Amino acid sequence: MAKAKKTLQPRELASLDVETMFRRLSDAMPGNWRDDHGGAKGPKGQPDAFRACVACMLSAQSLDTNTAKAAEQLFAIAKTPEAMLALDDDTLIDAIRPAGLYNNKAKSIRKFCAALMERGGTVPESRAGLMEMPGIGRKCADIVMSFTFGANVIAVDTHVGRVCNRTGLAPGKTEAKVAERLDKRAPEWAKAEGHFWLIQFGKKICTSRAPKCSDCFLRDLCLWENKAR
Ligand code: SF4
Repeated sequence: MAKAKKTLQPRELASLDVETMFRRLSDAMPGNWRDDHGGAKGPKGQPDAFRACVACMLSAQSLDTNTAKAAEQLFAIAKTPEAMLALDDDTLIDAIRPAGLYNNKAKSIRKFCAALMERGGTVPESRAGLMEMPGIGRKCADIVMSFTFGANVIAVDTHVGRVCNRTGLAPGKTEAKVAERLDKRAPEWAKAEGHFWLIQFGKKICTSRAPKCSDCFLRDLCLWENKAR
């Protein structure tokens, strides 16, 4: 009889260690960027849900500075779905060019605007509702939920996803899977600020190429097998 194939389960931190990890992060990392950094740029710094969704669509595979530039140029000429749909292709593409992948992004923005117009121009306020809109995945939905609607949601981007996978906090093959797992594992008290702690930790300490494991305050908890000895 053929042997059943063994599936390797990702290693996951014990619940008590998850709590300890968030306590240490909350002690060590600054909180809300909206206050501490004079307002976030790109999708997180937009004044309404429509612009937050569009800026998030622009942010795919784009550096924060390029996303911010594209968003600034686009919103200077169109701030509503009607105005955006009225732009001709060349104007729309020229405005969002700094964010890259501009042809596909222009098509997605048009589809999103058209779908919004069909529902009266109102952006849904629930995660499920947002994810039904064309071009809006879990990350954009969570960013809008957290930054625009003030929900206690930890949005997962590349930095948060890397930290969650390496440490065993909330392993997952995609950012959406990490977000689902993290939502179940993170203590409620940590959800309002958790995104800010994790993203800063990922940018400053648990960096992509050269994580500072020897100086890391989570080192004794972290399950990453490649962490520096
Ligand atoms: S020990 Fe290294 S891999 Fe683990 S959280 Fe710290 S910096 Fe990241």
